[in-house]
Amino acid sequence: MPDANHPIYVAPSLGNSNTLGHKTAMTDTNPLPPNDWPELQAGWVWLCGAGPGDPGLLTLHALNALRQADVIIYDALVDSRIMDWARADAELIYAGKRGGKPSAKQRDISLQLVDLAKAGKRVLRLKGGDPFVFGRGGEEAQTLVQHGIPIRIIPGISAGIGGLAYAGIPVTHRDVNQSVTFITGHDQSGKTPSTLNWQAISQGSQVLVIYMGMKHITPITNALLKAGRPDDEPVAVVTQATTPDQKVLETTLGSLVTDLEKSDMSPPAIICVGRSVKMRQVLDWQSMIAGEKPRNMDPLGRGKPAEVT
Ligand code: SAH
Repeated sequence: MPDANHPIYVAPSLGNSNTLGHKTAMTDTNPLPPNDWPELQAGWVWLCGAGPGDPGLLTLHALNALRQADVIIYDALVDSRIMDWARADAELIYAGKRGGKPSAKQRDISLQLVDLAKAGKRVLRLKGGDPFVFGRGGEEAQTLVQHGIPIRIIPGISAGIGGLAYAGIPVTHRDVNQSVTFITGHDQSGKTPSTLNWQAISQGSQVLVIYMGMKHITPITNALLKAGRPDDEPVAVVTQATTPDQKVLETTLGSLVTDLEKSDMSPPAIICVGRSVKMRQVLDWQSMIAGEKPRNMDPLGRGKPAEVT
């Protein structure tokens, strides 16, 4: 926890997967639970979210898809452990865009999906988090449809919700927020989104969840402060969320930029601005897996038990 002596606190990364509380392995021979599982047919593309990292956050539809696909085109943010669930003879194609030229390559990826489907393959397009949350899933899906390729969409757990939950931060909490705003720190040109109305966002939403915010963290922070968010407002930065390398920085809006500079944290990161960050003081469940006792505190200063209104 941050305190006067340690204003910057980066929760240590968890090192190995046992500290995430994983002790058993599901084997490839485990059948899916009985259900009417959809069949991935030749010539179809399924666009599927792979969640933020921890393979346990895959949906059963995603698992069903991994078990059937002839070809899987996956992104940089899809955790490598998830690919272990693919069919042993599936063709795996990496479509990582990190550091590349996104707009040119994006169209190539979509057209590759079209070609594979037209060749009669059963195609799985696997994307980090949820395919329709800052993931260009809508564009890819539209391109496929424009080329006459039938699609299915499989939602996933988005990093801005599941990643925060793994840091013990509820994305909504009744005492804190009745709304939440998901923001991207990049627009298509790679700059801070110029179309965002920071004034309206700052006034309209108690909790802000920022994706892709690390590169432009200084202008984003300045825009929020200028729009009236207090400089002592709690902020958490969660990198590599839900993986064994997850790190969490707790700070305030006023100290965010300097604390990040002092830390060794790097993207991918989710940045949460708002008082819900304080809930981590009691809900940091990973510290309990690491052996800490549950802390009976009152992080929001309610002065009464959690569920007494
Ligand atoms: N479709 C994805 C988001 C893709 S945009 C989703 O729903 O989660 C890529 C951004 O997502 C990253 O820059 C980062 O802000 C965030 N992100 C994805 N996975 C993450 C992870 N494991 N930890 C922290 N941030 C993550």
